[in-house]
Amino acid sequence: MIREPTMERIDEIFEGLKEECGVFGVASPEPIEAAMMTYYALYALQHRGQQSAGIAVNDDGVITAHCDEGLVNEVFDEASLSRLGKGTMAVGHVRYSTTGYEKRINCQPLVVNHHKGSMAIAHNGNLTNDAELREELELAGSIFHTTSDTEVIAYTITKERLSTSSIEEAVSKAMDKLKGAYSLVIMSPKKLIGVRDPNGFRPLCLGKHPSGMFCLASESCALDSIGAKYVREVEPGEIVVISNGVLTSDRSHCGTAKPGFCVFEYIYFARPDSVIDGRSVHLARQKAGEFLYEQHPVDADVIIGVPDSGLDAALGYSKRSGIPYGIGFIKNKYIGRTFIQPTQFDREKGVRIKLNPVPSTVAGKRVVLVDDSIVRGTTIKRIVNLLREVGATEVHVRLASPKFLYPCYFGTDVPSRENLIAVKYNDEELKKEIGVDSIGFLSIENAKLLTGEPGRGFCTGCFCGEYPCEPPKRKWVNKWCSKLGDG
Ligand code: AMP
Repeated sequence: MIREPTMERIDEIFEGLKEECGVFGVASPEPIEAAMMTYYALYALQHRGQQSAGIAVNDDGVITAHCDEGLVNEVFDEASLSRLGKGTMAVGHVRYSTTGYEKRINCQPLVVNHHKGSMAIAHNGNLTNDAELREELELAGSIFHTTSDTEVIAYTITKERLSTSSIEEAVSKAMDKLKGAYSLVIMSPKKLIGVRDPNGFRPLCLGKHPSGMFCLASESCALDSIGAKYVREVEPGEIVVISNGVLTSDRSHCGTAKPGFCVFEYIYFARPDSVIDGRSVHLARQKAGEFLYEQHPVDADVIIGVPDSGLDAALGYSKRSGIPYGIGFIKNKYIGRTFIQPTQFDREKGVRIKLNPVPSTVAGKRVVLVDDSIVRGTTIKRIVNLLREVGATEVHVRLASPKFLYPCYFGTDVPSRENLIAVKYNDEELKKEIGVDSIGFLSIENAKLLTGEPGRGFCTGCFCGEYPCEPPKRKWVNKWCSKLGDG
């Protein structure tokens, strides 16, 4: 039965639309171990998505793909990689989505066969006019197999391909229609293409291997994993085309929109050893810690970070304050997807597996605890409790991001407003709710300065509610939800 969705349900669906993904592509004039290269690169990008992984290899124009739910090492084994085998090009994807809605069919890269050939596409981001385009395409006869906006992008490109003389021309025409966040790696029978939306919400960089291969990756850590060197970012609005070892660029969409790189990439998503736009993620996080001390100084005995995402900022806070940095927690690295979670009974018996405090660092001490962010507030409450249990005398929480106050429509999983703890409580109430002696957030002004360039043009929409491009229209979400039959 199709029911009209409630507003709550719409927010839930919106939440489900948000994905944080990693994309990769490689192209060489000569056949290479394309599947293996992509496998290693996806391993390095695993932090960007743990729900599914996929690789498509191009062997002499024939595209073969393997995708499934799970981590990279669960989806691929020697047999599946050798079936994909050698080729001159490959694209790969790791995906994170927030709901279980038809997960398997939404695995990427998406491979489509169209009138002028075939195409594999891997996407990081979120379209904001997904529903409008879907409707338009459906009315023109398209039949969708997935619920993801990547299929909308694929069909928008293949439709344009019918009346254009090359795939890159079709991509450029499609870009006139696509709105929102998209960093794409596209593979046609003869070309590897990298595309970034004109706002440049999500990262995409270009690398080159000493052997002459070109690579495209969400983050430079993927290039490092295969011995390729970071060359530069694909610019917001740019289309780069790699064909037969030669790179060309179409910049006709560059500079057509307000710059809006997601500042949360520096704060949380990206790996600290990555370089984005030539700026080290580790140093940006350390800078966040330094700013935090300047904004919210406190007298304390030790600075600790929540592993892994709070460690770099904790180091910065310690450096700037002169208060020693300590190892406050040990995170168990061996907890996989098949780990049997402790029940309430186990927890009451004191079973704690994932994260354990180091008593010698915190017992009897005034502790500054640094983390990247608070969303619903669940994690920080638990962590503060652990510190109190081992005898921390004071706990001062510092967050390396501003308060999450608004939804994100461009690829970050920020839940609906009523679930955001910073929307519900003011600072004094937050302190009580979390059980800490003081709390301090990074200011939006300082978040914009993390890479040291004033006026760089970050998107800080989830912190301030102002977005560099128009958010999606509610009426379309309504329509789309009722189509899905959710409610
Ligand atoms: P919460 O318990 O809801 O407050 O979650 C906070 C923690 O979730 C942060 O410390 C981050 O490590 C992590 N986190 C923050 N933003 C995101 C996001 N968009 N997607 C997944 N995890 C996130």
